Amino acid sequence: MGKSKALYTFSFLAVYFSFCTITPTSSTSLQDDFINCLHENTNVDFPLLETFFSPERNVSIYKEVLQSTAHNLRYVTESMPKPGFIFKPVHESHVQASVICSNQLGLHHRVRSGGHDYEGLSFVSLMETPFILIDLSKLRQINVDIEDNSAWVQSGATIGELYYRIAEKSKLHGFPAGLCSTVGIGGHITGGGDGTLLRKYGLAADNVLDAKIVNADGKLLNRAAMGEDLFWAIRGGGGGSFGVILAWKLKLVPVPETLTMFTVTKTLEQDPETKILSKWQRIADKLVDDLFLRVMFRVAGDKTLTLEYKGQFLGEKGTLMEVMKKYFPELGLTQEDCIEVTWIESVLANAGFPIDSPLEVLLNPKLSPYVKVYFKGKSDFATEPIPPFGLKGMFKKLVEENTSSMFMIPYGGMMAKIPESETPFAHRKGTILKIHYATNSTSEDGISLNKRTKWIREMYSYMTPYVSSNPRLAYVNYRDLDLGTNTKDSKANFIKAQTWGAQYFKNNFNRLEVEIPTPRHENNIQNINYFTKVLSASDTNKKGSFVLNKRHAIECLPLLVQWDESATIPRPDKVSPWEIEPLTHSSNILKSVFLKNKRQSEIDDFGK
Ligand SMILES: Cc1cc2nc3c(=O)[nH]c(=O)nc-3n(C[C@H](O)[C@H](O)[C@H](O)COP(=O)(O)OP(=O)(O)OC[C@H]3O[C@@H](n4cnc5c(N)ncnc54)[C@H](O)[C@@H]3O)c2cc1C
Repeated sequence: MGKSKALYTFSFLAVYFSFCTITPTSSTSLQDDFINCLHENTNVDFPLLETFFSPERNVSIYKEVLQSTAHNLRYVTESMPKPGFIFKPVHESHVQASVICSNQLGLHHRVRSGGHDYEGLSFVSLMETPFILIDLSKLRQINVDIEDNSAWVQSGATIGELYYRIAEKSKLHGFPAGLCSTVGIGGHITGGGDGTLLRKYGLAADNVLDAKIVNADGKLLNRAAMGEDLFWAIRGGGGGSFGVILAWKLKLVPVPETLTMFTVTKTLEQDPETKILSKWQRIADKLVDDLFLRVMFRVAGDKTLTLEYKGQFLGEKGTLMEVMKKYFPELGLTQEDCIEVTWIESVLANAGFPIDSPLEVLLNPKLSPYVKVYFKGKSDFATEPIPPFGLKGMFKKLVEENTSSMFMIPYGGMMAKIPESETPFAHRKGTILKIHYATNSTSEDGISLNKRTKWIREMYSYMTPYVSSNPRLAYVNYRDLDLGTNTKDSKANFIKAQTWGAQYFKNNFNRLEVEIPTPRHENNIQNINYFTKVLSASDTNKKGSFVLNKRHAIECLPLLVQWDESATIPRPDKVSPWEIEPLTHSSNILKSVFLKNKRQSEIDDFGK
């Protein structure tokens, strides 16, 4: 490291949100030029009917292809900008040629693998016109090598397909990635990828052995050729940033023949003092690594809330019962709550399928219980348990919105053993849990969408005192453009990006941003280079230069990474409770500092 060269394209940050109608940007001549250019840059045929889709050729097929894997329906509404055309490469050389031709024609890319991006960034660009979509869904080959404990998986495959192909060859191998079977390998792993095996084996990105990537020059590189800096960056640095990943070589992990799963449901009446949930928060990240015990908060139509404690144990029922009896008797787990399964059956259950479903359901996205919805999601990480009074307010807020959903998952185990700088994913030792908030709806209705978005922002704001701070951390795979977006002003972008960059990656953002060697052309992987500007040393040293005045500083607090010592109000973690009062009306965050102080004593009391 050490080369202060700049940056790759953080194109996901390059979306500027407006809700104006933009007509499709396709032009037949542009597409023809692109096709001609592709012919010049690949020897492998690409049948036009199967690989090119544009509104001019056939609008209904174009729409169908565009919507095929787009998971968040908010981003396929009429008002959203559409790619000029869609190209589905059928050979890796087509991806290389696409990058070369985009460079030549000055076209911006969006790259899509599984289409599950929370903010639709794999198929929508609100800033770049024209843009095209390179859809990798035809590149989905999976080669599992049990002897070698590894698998090569192309980006267009889903994690469900990967799990299926592993189980086809072995009952004793698995892979630690996410739960929903339709999530794409390409975007998922490059953003980290957490699932029920994370306490035992870490993230999907922690189990990558090699990768194939097309860089901004259109060169195909493996790990040795890309170098360790880029290989580091793609394992958690977020999709759409460092090139087009064609395939991952994954390390398979051992799983036992028998796993045990359970769900224990509690109503608020059964835990009026939140004793069970408080205990869960204190111990879930410290339990044996074989046990993953999450909590799902479910709001019913009548505004009642239930808490589902869902466990997965890498072992038999008897051993699990002993662990639970010793460490968490308050939950009241019984033998009857438990079911013994194989690893692939646990995959089915976690993906929402009945446990006795044919495994082939993992291959068919249309059968997934995770239906496409209009949704908005957000995330948090906590380093301390949320105190009972905080939990009670959280419950109250949750039941206000019946499209709300929320879950908490424990970290610890292997997650805490991997150093923070090992990959860009920095939420390691000290992180006790991750929180996911969402509102989901199956209908498009502007009024209720606004209401739901307002609700989730209020919920997020409410949680401020109880979660990580300075910076408040977020998971890049749960992309959240509320944290900030780019504009066309590259310099301002860098300054702004320091805030959300640190939220996603802590100090690893500096390495992603400044020290990763840059390709010869900085732009055109995906779309723009508004975020890729090399800043001079003096630029990067302007600490907190965006703290312009007191009011601005207060607004910046949730995102602040580097505090300007010359700022006119004190640094949040240095504020004493008596200094807070005059500011609380305008700053939720400062209020949070006060609550935080209070929280510690409450926790201390509670633990006694
Ligand atoms: C229903 C649902 C369930 C989920 N469950 C989990 C879970 O259990 N655990 C978890 O960690 N996450 C989970 N996620 C989040 C998920 O991991 C991310 O949204 C991930 O980015 C999706 O990858 P994708 O390929 O499907 O998405 P896409 O929308 O195709 O891509 C996401 C981003 O990556 C970029 N990208 C895609 N392919 C490539 C490529 N080949 N090379 C470079 N960049 C690329 C895109 O341009 C975009 O910026 C879930 C999301 C949804 C919607």
